Amino acid sequence: MSPRSGSDRLEGRVVAVYGELVELGTSERVERIPAFQSRSAGTAVVGDTVEAETVEGPAPDEVGWRIAEIAPRERCLWRSSRRRTAQLIASGIDRLAVVSAVEPPPREGLIDRYLVAAELQGIQPLLVLNKIDLPGREQAREQLGSFKSLGYPLCAVSAKEGEGLEELGDALSRGWSLLVGHSGVGKSTLLNRLLPEAGLQTSRLARTGKGRHTTTVATALRFRGGYLVDTPGIREFGLVGVEPRDVERGFREIRELAEGCRFSDCAHRSEPGCAVREAVVEGAIEERRYASYLRIRESLEAGER
Ligand code: GDP
Ligand code: ZN
Repeated sequence: MSPRSGSDRLEGRVVAVYGELVELGTSERVERIPAFQSRSAGTAVVGDTVEAETVEGPAPDEVGWRIAEIAPRERCLWRSSRRRTAQLIASGIDRLAVVSAVEPPPREGLIDRYLVAAELQGIQPLLVLNKIDLPGREQAREQLGSFKSLGYPLCAVSAKEGEGLEELGDALSRGWSLLVGHSGVGKSTLLNRLLPEAGLQTSRLARTGKGRHTTTVATALRFRGGYLVDTPGIREFGLVGVEPRDVERGFREIRELAEGCRFSDCAHRSEPGCAVREAVVEGAIEERRYASYLRIRESLEAGER
């Protein structure tokens, strides 16, 4: 079906979802454009690239657009769920900013899980250590040092005092970045500091009418040349749909050494000729990371049973 004229179609990215309504961000307009979801296109999530068409007939609620098509998704993040039903939270994510803090201290196992999710989706991880104004900062930095030596960039900041925020802002200035982190690490404080005028970006939909009673699980806010995605209320991102044998691809040092294993399907547990276990013994792979690999893999295997 070809559009009647150029103005009939609109390409944008979904920046918020309120049930049947979404908001689109486009490169041409500053304001967010409300649009209806459509059954034929499927349910859109934040970050989706969509094509919208004008709504025929009298437009209810002044919403003049409806999603006609959702582009194939890549670089997705899912919410973990106890019932194991996957809930897609966002797509088209370029960067996962994994926020931890001096207090509560970094949980390395949780960071590993975020890194696996990012690596498997081809999303760039960025580690953020917040609250470096607190006394325990040296110890926390040391804790995160092993991730840094694996090549993950680290920004140390204080959302409270402002230290390091310029550097973090630069690191987040392009593409779509999603912030994750354990509750209490200062994610909201950080977002408020980076986007003091965020309230101005929330639209009419969020405050009135249709959007009033349905909150969005994720919101994308324009930040310099890109977007920051906030997911209030979601603390755990899951490794949904990850095959146990794929976990090693989420550990870059294991992925690299696994090529030297005798068996191509080596799980790096008790197989003979395992280059990974050898590297652990020699200290080339950190024991903590190896244990974390086994734990994540086993938890996925347990989920399969
Ligand atoms: P969230 O649960 O990750 O959104 O964390 P909040 O933003 O609500 O912050 C949790 C607590 O940490 C609050 O009491 C904040 O005031 C405090 N906090 C946030 N950033 C900093 C910081 O850089 N330094 C210190 N000392 N406290 C901070
Ligand atoms: Zn092996």
